[in-house]
Amino acid sequence: MSDSDMQQLWSTSHLSGGNASYVEELYELYLQDPNSVADEWRSYFQKLPQVNGHAATDVSHSAVRHQFQLLTQNNRRPVAATSSSSAGAVSVDHEKKQVDVLRLIQAYRMRGHQAARLDPLELWQREEIVDLQMSDYGLTDADLNTVFRTGELQDGKDEATLADVMETLKSTYSATFGAEYMHIVDSNQRRWFQQRLESVRGKPTFSVDARRHLLERLTAAEGLEKYLGTKYPGTKRFGVEGGESLIPMLDEIIQRTGSYGTNEVVIGMAHRGRLNVLVNILGKNPRELFDEFEGKKKVDLGSGDVKYHQGFSSNVMTSGGEVHLAMAFNPSHLEIVSPVVVGSVRARQDRRKDSDGNKVVPISIHGDAAFAGQGVVMETFQMSQTRAYKTGGTIHVIVNNQVGFTTSRQDDARSTEYCTDVAKMIQAPIFHVNGDDPEAVLFVTQLAVDYRMQFKRDVVIDLVCYRRRGHNEADEPSGTQPHMYAKIAKHPTTREIYAERLIAEQALTEEGVQEMFEDYRTALDNGDHVVKSLVKEPDVSSFVDWAPYLGHKWTARHDTRFDLKTLQELAGRLNTLPDGLVLQRQVSKIVEDRRKMAAGALAINWGFAETMAYATLLHEGHPVRISGQDVGRGTFSHRHAVLHNQKGDLGDAYVPLANLDANQPRFDIYDSLLSEEAVVAFEYGYATTTPNVLVIWEAQFGDFANGAQVVIDQFITSGEHKWGRLCGLTLLLPHGYEGQGPEHSSARLERFLQLSAEHNIQVCVPSTPAQVYHMLRRQVIRPLRKPLIALTPKSLLRHKLAISSLEDLADGSFQPVMPEYDEQDVKKVDRVVMCSGKVYYDLLEKRRNEELNNVAIIRIEQLYPFPEEDLAEVLAPYKNLKKVVWCQEEPMNQGAWYCSQHHMRRVLADHKVKELYLDYAGREASAAPACGHPSMHAEQQEKLLEDALKA
Ligand code: AMP
Repeated sequence: MSDSDMQQLWSTSHLSGGNASYVEELYELYLQDPNSVADEWRSYFQKLPQVNGHAATDVSHSAVRHQFQLLTQNNRRPVAATSSSSAGAVSVDHEKKQVDVLRLIQAYRMRGHQAARLDPLELWQREEIVDLQMSDYGLTDADLNTVFRTGELQDGKDEATLADVMETLKSTYSATFGAEYMHIVDSNQRRWFQQRLESVRGKPTFSVDARRHLLERLTAAEGLEKYLGTKYPGTKRFGVEGGESLIPMLDEIIQRTGSYGTNEVVIGMAHRGRLNVLVNILGKNPRELFDEFEGKKKVDLGSGDVKYHQGFSSNVMTSGGEVHLAMAFNPSHLEIVSPVVVGSVRARQDRRKDSDGNKVVPISIHGDAAFAGQGVVMETFQMSQTRAYKTGGTIHVIVNNQVGFTTSRQDDARSTEYCTDVAKMIQAPIFHVNGDDPEAVLFVTQLAVDYRMQFKRDVVIDLVCYRRRGHNEADEPSGTQPHMYAKIAKHPTTREIYAERLIAEQALTEEGVQEMFEDYRTALDNGDHVVKSLVKEPDVSSFVDWAPYLGHKWTARHDTRFDLKTLQELAGRLNTLPDGLVLQRQVSKIVEDRRKMAAGALAINWGFAETMAYATLLHEGHPVRISGQDVGRGTFSHRHAVLHNQKGDLGDAYVPLANLDANQPRFDIYDSLLSEEAVVAFEYGYATTTPNVLVIWEAQFGDFANGAQVVIDQFITSGEHKWGRLCGLTLLLPHGYEGQGPEHSSARLERFLQLSAEHNIQVCVPSTPAQVYHMLRRQVIRPLRKPLIALTPKSLLRHKLAISSLEDLADGSFQPVMPEYDEQDVKKVDRVVMCSGKVYYDLLEKRRNEELNNVAIIRIEQLYPFPEEDLAEVLAPYKNLKKVVWCQEEPMNQGAWYCSQHHMRRVLADHKVKELYLDYAGREASAAPACGHPSMHAEQQEKLLEDALKA
């Protein structure tokens, strides 16, 4: 702005340097919304100091003042309007009020939700929000008829009386729902919300059909609970009563996403309302549910689970076509299913090549207490826009019954105003809605879906309701919530409230309402499906065929060999790099070494063998997905699957395995965010959805896996037996005692072995490059889908003895038990030492150095399912045994000793030659996994080797 422009501005604005505070207010408005001030002011403010290209709130006021001081000093001070004429005074007063009106509008956008009537029980005691009072802006009732400019208020008027403006603001922002979106920094998104909310004043009109449909879905929600309550009184069902609006909300989400062309919707939810969702949304046959209540349901396989943890799949018809619905199986640990659902969605999107997230949409249904309290919620949000884990946004629904089990005091339940505040960390928009106003519920649902589909980000609906029957139907909630339950006892149901409204507005007759209720009841009596849109003969192409993976034993035959020439050719392609890719010196050496390994000029190391496992699987048509901590490089720099261009920009990286062949399957490798719980849950969800993909999560150090202990306990080790869901997920957990202290020595092998039963998982400790190669290939090639827990090495990655040959890769197989490696006269062997992992090389070197030729060393490379037959075969030639020792690096109460010794003893008992006792050589029992002093470690290590080989 030129000086003369500035003079002009002064003279037309009735201002003086003495009115700096007014200009400050204008500036504050400008900061909140640049379009809310006049053009001249906007261009003036744009010239003020900026931080990172944005006006900075902390410099604003002083900068404004400073500019005015300068103007005054330069004698450019205009004549004060107030002293010129009375008309000028009125004008200044109006202009000031105009600014106040615009500030009030902004305040409603920011904080109107705090004055909304959200609680159906009207128990919330919310403080008056001063920012929303006209008086806070110096406005009074006397101003109500004055016409003001409305700035960007989107209700179609440029000017309106203050009374009209207030009316618009209250109905848009403070009626029966509240919208939080002003924390979003993207102006496009904020304006989108303003437009959508303000243009209908927060109250769209719905057709009579839509309103009847709403009531019909509420009738279904209430009808099912009433029916179950009468038929099975006192039986736990975690009914939806009090939150019935959940059913029309989900119905709308599915129908609306379908209209956008979505093909699949995956739902995760806890117990509350789950049976209702299964019957009234997914179309589970009520008869089946009744059978479960009556204990008639047969357990097909495994141990089964309670009815409110069961998943389900179906297809429904929408205006955009058929939509496949999948409800994920769920444990009692709240919130943990959310990242599982997201993982399943991403797998389906990858399968459908849906990189935009249009074709598959996740819905996560939460409880208010868990949403505010469980850390995995935050982890899952943090994942939502990352390359590895994004899906184009989850639609979150919170069934906010205002009580977490028995905790209803807000100061016990959380430290934030809303249970949803955690969602602001990713700037997700949040709608709070009163569950007793189904039309408000419908409106925010439509907005949420439209937002998700347009902006591809998470969105949250907080359905404020209550639970009519306490935590469950056997509970007596008035003991802990007397006031609330006295209120609930007198409170009509959502359906009753809405039916009354429709009758009053002549959208329906009383008879019509009654008929709706009876029709639903009759359908239940007949055991009919109660979802009208259910597709009776679903399009099977929306399902993955798991049949080829069912019914196999871990001993199933498989062949992991691979043609040597093709292997070398693939290695050649991997190690031929594009022009212009400049590698760091050490990385360049690794690639150079790999070229030599492919040519047979250098023995094969771990990094080469592992990479070739992926390359050969990709070549055979199996996609590979690896995520975890530092996986691109590998914590110990052995993998280097992502090559970083030293001359390039950030992100200028080349992934050889993704560039093997133009028609190859996906190879995805992602360094994860620093999370174990949500990330492992995500990968579990991914792996249980895609049997054909090798899905791997790698820990930086194996002990970090216990950050995901809930996932390991509740899903990975027990999911198949509880729910019949197969899972081929592989966990790579670096493990080994190298004197580095109590952290990072142990992947807690004992935990996995203790969880092993009924052939639920595989626990392997491969000790050579060829073993890891065949183990990874076996995981996909063998039709068995069982989680694989692999303890992987650290120092062994570069150990001179831990090597293999090209022929080992081309011709071998994974050996659950590895026999003695050195040539020995078996007749002279009177001692066998059995072990797993790195200690083998320590034993081998000591045995060789000390020429203890009476000792044979056998490696057990698969600890579960324990290969008893293979071990017996390997032991058979030793007829002169006097001693058999199990040697481990871990303390006695850890490692394999307690959980695996019975298998070894069983084999020894069958050893025909002689009764043999199994001895232990290892560290003493210990509270910590390893000691913290390198010298103590070395002493312990030497002793256990001595014990194993000589004692
Ligand atoms: P969904 O797409 O998850 O609804 O799955 C469709 C059908 O595939 C299910 O009804 C199951 O029969 C089968 N299925 C899905 N996932 C698995 C799994 N992990 N293990 C075994 N069968 C599965």
